[in-house]
Amino acid sequence: MASVTQTWLHRAIATLESESAACSDTPLRRLALPADWGIDLYFKDESAHPTGSLKHRLARSLVLHALVNGLVDQGATLVEASSGSTAVSEAYFAQMLGLPFVAVMTRTTSPEKIALIEAYGGRCEFTDDPSAIYATAQRIAEESGGHYLDQFTNAERATDWRGNNNIADSIIDQMAGEQHPVPSWVVVGAGTGGTSATIGRYVRYKRLATRVCVVDPEGSAFLDAWTNANAAATGPGSRIEGIGRPRVEPSFVRTVIDRLVRVPDNASIGAMQWCTDALGTPVGASTGTALWGAFGLIDEMRSAGERGSIVVLLCDGGERYADTYYSDQWLADHGFDPVASRHQIEAYVAGAAWPTA
Ligand SMILES: *Cc1c(COP(=O)(O)O)cnc(C)c1O
Repeated sequence: MASVTQTWLHRAIATLESESAACSDTPLRRLALPADWGIDLYFKDESAHPTGSLKHRLARSLVLHALVNGLVDQGATLVEASSGSTAVSEAYFAQMLGLPFVAVMTRTTSPEKIALIEAYGGRCEFTDDPSAIYATAQRIAEESGGHYLDQFTNAERATDWRGNNNIADSIIDQMAGEQHPVPSWVVVGAGTGGTSATIGRYVRYKRLATRVCVVDPEGSAFLDAWTNANAAATGPGSRIEGIGRPRVEPSFVRTVIDRLVRVPDNASIGAMQWCTDALGTPVGASTGTALWGAFGLIDEMRSAGERGSIVVLLCDGGERYADTYYSDQWLADHGFDPVASRHQIEAYVAGAAWPTA
């Protein structure tokens, strides 16, 4: 494509801008901890986006980035290698711009997810080999004259880290009226790594005392990547949807992450269950992972006699997981046993010690 039709491009960018303006900011929700701890815990509720997860921000940024780079013209097919929330959100934006959308995924993907992508007019393309999805997505984009959005490469560069109402800007804005407006920690998992990169860069740029803690599930390559600066680290892969990867993704920026904590899968699920009761709305498993990590940091602050605030990212709601993490049968069938971890949180908020490894 020589050059993109300017009138179409301008209209497309304006469409994304008005979508963004029409979305109210996602809420910051406080969860009460024992008052004498002197520590305030907040959740940035990204499930409030129209497509239900923080991937709404990523999808908007990836499409806008492709548009301003002149990579997408009227009628071009957008392609992604994802069966998850990213594909759902990208399908939503492709439909809004009148562009065809193809999500490449393995044949084992659940019918519910396929239905969500198709509900936004997307088409699903299947591969037998899970590692073939990236090359297949690239090929479909080339053959159709379309564009491969490539979340794992482009997530960290598609978002403006200086502000412009990115997720970090929004959190710091909303915290302004609180008792401890500058959080001691922001806690989030890494899937693409884009969210931790944006927050890590932003707090440095704004010269805030806030530190970024990434929580990493069992089986993920990020722990080795962060601890040993090993960019070639691999792992068997994660069982916590949205976070933890079998390889170190290009969007994982280890130098802006102040702490990386491994969280056992049972602890992620136990914390998810406790959080769902405490907030009164179901949260996804990756929010449980982050909350478990936050309790470790809270205990560290208390031991040091520190007061302050911690912000946990609530990345998606629990509705999509009714048949998985929210089914006791499914948990048992897949070898999860979250009871002890849930009890550990209950005991901690009731006055017991937090066991340290
Ligand atoms: C993508 C995702 C994350 C992690 O966000 P990244 O910016 O990709 O690192 C966390 N939780 C859920 C549910 C996700 O879908």
